[in-house]
Amino acid sequence: MRWCSCQSCCPRSPYFKALLLIDLDNFKTLNETLGHTAGDRLLQQMAVRLTAGAAPDAMVARFGGDEFAILLERIPDEREQACAHAKHEAERISHLLDQPVQLDGESLQLGASIGITVFSDDARDAGELLRRADMAMYRAKAAGRGTVRFFDPSLQAAATARLALESDLRAGLRDHAFFLHYQPQVERDGRIAGVEALVRWRHPRRGMVSPAEFIPLAEEIGLALPLGHWVLDCACRQLAAWSRQAETRHLELAVNVSARQLHHPAFVAQVLGCLASSGADPRKLKLEITEGTLLDDVEDAIEKINALKAHGLTFAIDDFGTGYSSLAYLSRLPLDMLKIDRSFVLDLTTNPNDAVIARTIIALGANLGLKVLAEGVETAAQRDFLFENGCQAYQGYLCARPLAPHALARLLGAT
Ligand code: C2E
Ligand code: CA
Ligand code: CA
Repeated sequence: MRWCSCQSCCPRSPYFKALLLIDLDNFKTLNETLGHTAGDRLLQQMAVRLTAGAAPDAMVARFGGDEFAILLERIPDEREQACAHAKHEAERISHLLDQPVQLDGESLQLGASIGITVFSDDARDAGELLRRADMAMYRAKAAGRGTVRFFDPSLQAAATARLALESDLRAGLRDHAFFLHYQPQVERDGRIAGVEALVRWRHPRRGMVSPAEFIPLAEEIGLALPLGHWVLDCACRQLAAWSRQAETRHLELAVNVSARQLHHPAFVAQVLGCLASSGADPRKLKLEITEGTLLDDVEDAIEKINALKAHGLTFAIDDFGTGYSSLAYLSRLPLDMLKIDRSFVLDLTTNPNDAVIARTIIALGANLGLKVLAEGVETAAQRDFLFENGCQAYQGYLCARPLAPHALARLLGAT
């Protein structure tokens, strides 16, 4: 038998709690062979045993089917002792449920598999705790039934790291640890007509954290809205500042918008608010929305896009080719630009399939009246292929990586 010996699963705290998830081992078979009425009586007997046998301050609940949960509160306030206590309690209950049951003169044996998760009393995400106990319970079942298992500390370590990142993200937003970089978008004639704003996070200990890592997390924990608002606000200010300088005055600025943002009821007002307070020209602001996000709720997307287009904004469909867009709905969306996902650009010149896909997307965009831009262009060969096949603009390391404003100004001065 194994018990928690990790250094990270149970953070220091005033006191701990433990959640035990109990699954009866042979219940399904017995329920099917003896019939559901007998099955119900079996469950009742087990429930009586659990409530009578659990510690006096424990909370016992039935979770549906043959699953029960026990919440142990106020267990010892030292990590190892808390785990030892939970393990001892689980074994006692396991033994209790292992005793034969008398049903209609027959002696039946069920037994139970128990998963445990120990947590500090400030844990708030009940769903997460249940998932952990559930994972542990499945490990107990896999280990041969009648056993007790803790939630895997290494999994818990990952969960703890995530929790830390969550709180860092909140702190980052408060402490202004985010900033924007801008990646040029290049026309066929080599002119930089626009840039895409890409958010960056300077983490106090980890250094730069990729938006690919923190944007999905921000979405999950409800920070997509404040972060998205900050990005829009910062981008609009930058746009207004550029309009006052000769070499940047012409620039269009593309901003990524997440699903949560777009579908929020106040989205349109928020965008207009950022434009108004910064004094930026709405005709220079383009919003990039991924295919998947548009698909979530097409009607809502159309309504909002139209509302903002009335003010002069333009829209691009981002990461095109990665979703499952049907042409029927694509043609209904009032978009201006289509961005070919960089996964198709990567092997464009070596993989004939990707070349076909890229050509098809370009033709599709042209037929829908959209400007087509390719992302992730790293080589001149890729650029040439795309331009030869009708693509109108590109973005990628071939021209420049996402740049800080001063570096972008330098690049523009030099072109
Ligand atoms: P995306 O919108 O598809 O942005 C393009 C990503 O490709 C950027 O990664 C950019 O640095 C990278 N990239 C550009 N050119 C090349 C190239 O030639 N080769 C390769 N290999 N990569 C290239 P980044 O900045 O890490 O952003 C990743 C994703 O995070 C973005 O993908 C976007 O979905 C999201 N994101 C970034 N900033 C924001 C933001 O402000 N709001 C929202 N909602 N999402 C953002
Ligand atoms: Ca984008
Ligand atoms: Ca993209």
